[in-house]
Amino acid sequence: MPDKKDYYEVLGVAKDSSEKDIKGAYRKLAMKYHPDRSEEAGAEERFKEISEAYAVLSDPEKRQKYDQFGHAGINSQYSQEDLFRGVNFEDLLRGFGFGGGGARAGPGGESIFDMFFGGGGRSRGPARGRDLRYDVNITLEQAASGLESTIEVPRTENCSTCKGSGAKPGTAPSVCGNCHGSGQITRAQNTPFGQMVTASPCPKCGGKGQIITNPCGDCGGSGRVRKTRKINIKIPAGIEDGQHLKLRSQGDAGGQGADSGDLYVVINVMPHPNFQRIESDLLQERAISFTEAALGAEIEVPTLTGRAKMKVPAGTQTGTVFRLRGKGMPRLQGIGSGDLHVKVNIKTPSALTERQRELLEALALEFGEKRKAKSTEKEKSIIDKIVDEVKSAVQ
Ligand SMILES: [Zn+2]
Ligand SMILES: [Zn+2]
Repeated sequence: MPDKKDYYEVLGVAKDSSEKDIKGAYRKLAMKYHPDRSEEAGAEERFKEISEAYAVLSDPEKRQKYDQFGHAGINSQYSQEDLFRGVNFEDLLRGFGFGGGGARAGPGGESIFDMFFGGGGRSRGPARGRDLRYDVNITLEQAASGLESTIEVPRTENCSTCKGSGAKPGTAPSVCGNCHGSGQITRAQNTPFGQMVTASPCPKCGGKGQIITNPCGDCGGSGRVRKTRKINIKIPAGIEDGQHLKLRSQGDAGGQGADSGDLYVVINVMPHPNFQRIESDLLQERAISFTEAALGAEIEVPTLTGRAKMKVPAGTQTGTVFRLRGKGMPRLQGIGSGDLHVKVNIKTPSALTERQRELLEALALEFGEKRKAKSTEKEKSIIDKIVDEVKSAVQ
């Protein structure tokens, strides 16, 4: 790695300069060397140096580290490409967009929200393609097992006939005579405060610097076509509602030479009739009869993959929650699965048969709840036997 220049030297300021001085020096130099407008050889390199120096010296914490340890203190964590992308010429002209080094200047600073809501990609030159969002609905069972699928994504691609140039094959675009290929019209005015330079996109070529005289027949000269592209996706087991997959460079095509946008596949997990999901755990309500609750029973409960046996102990109260370990959702990160929680609700019987009614009346009598039922002596002996069984189970 070649020796790096001193950041203060790069900006032409003294070591004890104020923040304001540094900002002023940066702005002046950045306007002079911005590659969108400087014709000077090496302007782009110079601009990167300036941006990097400014990103460090404008941040009090980084500046202090730099003062103490030099370049080693900064750890070369600023990729020059990132810095370069973070600042655009219009922002400089307007005098903003670079407070604290620019929100977009730091590596990895772009959030998904920036992508969706237009935070990125404002720099000049061929624009990066747009990020796209595609929503996929899956069932809870599919979220549990994971799945591979093919989605059809409508997107903008470079025209294959003209390779994105917009010019009919065999012809070439000509240089715009109005801006001489720069794509910009700059105007210098002398004012009492010094020279003011304004730049605007060339109206003749729309800022491209080229004029297409023989447009490509397939894209009408735009260089872009709409295509619906089949894309394979792999949804991992355990994915949660609202999570997304990021497919790099599968979004809209960028301008010539620029990167394509990314494709965000947002996963919506549909609600399930039987299960409620809380992260990797599942919740289920299950009705049991009051005799099952009183006497205890082994019942079957549905799971996401089949059925499981569950023991309900004698004397179970309504609302009790039982846990079936490992019968929940697989964990996206980490090993194993969550649990299945089964809440039992005791169902009161209705529409009793005559026989059931008699048995229940006898039971009520035994509990001391009701006057003697109108059962015959013979039947009563059978009822007594059942009541005794129930009683011993409940106790
Ligand atoms: Zn074309
Ligand atoms: Zn032009």
